[in-house]
Amino acid sequence: MVKPFEKPIYVTRPLLPSMDNFIYRMKRIWESKWITNNGGQHQKLETELKKYLKVDNLSLINNGTIALQIALKALDIEGEVITTPFTFAATPHAIAWNGLTPVFCDIDPETLNIDAKKIEPLITEKTSAILPVHVFGTPCDVEKIQKIADEYNLKVIYDGAHAFGTEIDGVGIGNYGDITMYSFHATKLFNTVEGGALACNNKELKQKIDMLKNFGIKNEEEVVFIGTNGKMNEFQAAMGLEVLKKVEEEREKRKKIQEIYYQELGDLEGISFIPKKDLEGVTSSYQYFVIRINEKQFGVSRDFVYEKLKEYNVYTRKYFFPLCSDYNCYRNLPSVAKENLPVAYKVVNEVLSLPFYGDLGAKNAEKICDIIKNIG
Ligand SMILES: *Cc1c(COP(=O)(O)O)cnc(C)c1O
Repeated sequence: MVKPFEKPIYVTRPLLPSMDNFIYRMKRIWESKWITNNGGQHQKLETELKKYLKVDNLSLINNGTIALQIALKALDIEGEVITTPFTFAATPHAIAWNGLTPVFCDIDPETLNIDAKKIEPLITEKTSAILPVHVFGTPCDVEKIQKIADEYNLKVIYDGAHAFGTEIDGVGIGNYGDITMYSFHATKLFNTVEGGALACNNKELKQKIDMLKNFGIKNEEEVVFIGTNGKMNEFQAAMGLEVLKKVEEEREKRKKIQEIYYQELGDLEGISFIPKKDLEGVTSSYQYFVIRINEKQFGVSRDFVYEKLKEYNVYTRKYFFPLCSDYNCYRNLPSVAKENLPVAYKVVNEVLSLPFYGDLGAKNAEKICDIIKNIG
């Protein structure tokens, strides 16, 4: 019999930097008396992240949700935006908050990303953008999506909240589409406590984004857009500069934990991995480790596993249950009909995010696997 963990094990823990280094930066900020509005820490973080993410233009924002809203404004999106129901609330909310209508498209059964094959039938004369999510850091079918966008003259904004450091054949994920959003929330691999960024493919667009995040101010005498306050402050940026130093080490640690999960759970009938092991050419973001449970084959349901793990003091998450199309605020949209979203409605009852962070350690990961193996 496996004994329950003494202390609760959560699905993730924030990556915290050296406190001494952080305090050193705090002192520098105090001396400068410059605590927000594109200060020294902000400028340095923007430059360093641009390199790390391998993108040409990057704008730091105070969180990922505001970043998405700014992206939609920057591209003058109107009317309908095609997106996925299998995502965090922020994705459709950013669309709706901007006065636009989210149109939910079904997902691909392998990647759980928007199913590019099902986008075209949803395009109407009101459609002006596609907003796919690189779910759990797995790249969307970026080529097919771009082809559709080109054909119908649509903009593409990627929600890359899970895709920090994801690359396709060495190309940073932020190079696809018109704009890519990153989230630096505490639960993400890289964090600035709260924070985010937008990557885009041309300088003019970056300039517009930078004005939009600063109330639309162009200079002391001109306000040219209806902007918002999306500025990242110096404390967030300082945190980011220190966390960034630890990201590679964290990825290595997560890689080892991932290997244990693959090894220990790989032979269990009814358990599969999202994404599949070793996607060709893809560098993983190591954001989440997700299993999919086929109840018929595994013998018990996802919900059973979730509840049972709690008895062992292990708190997994059913990301992204419930589907966004099931929220009260979107229930009346025509695109939410279950028959339009068969894969999403099936998958959402089968996925489970397992604890996944560097400090979890090999022993704890092995113990979680032992519990799952003996769960039926
Ligand atoms: C975390 C997350 C966001 C929102 O980011 P915040 O920085 O928390 O506002 C958006 N989309 C997805 C898929 C996320 O996981």
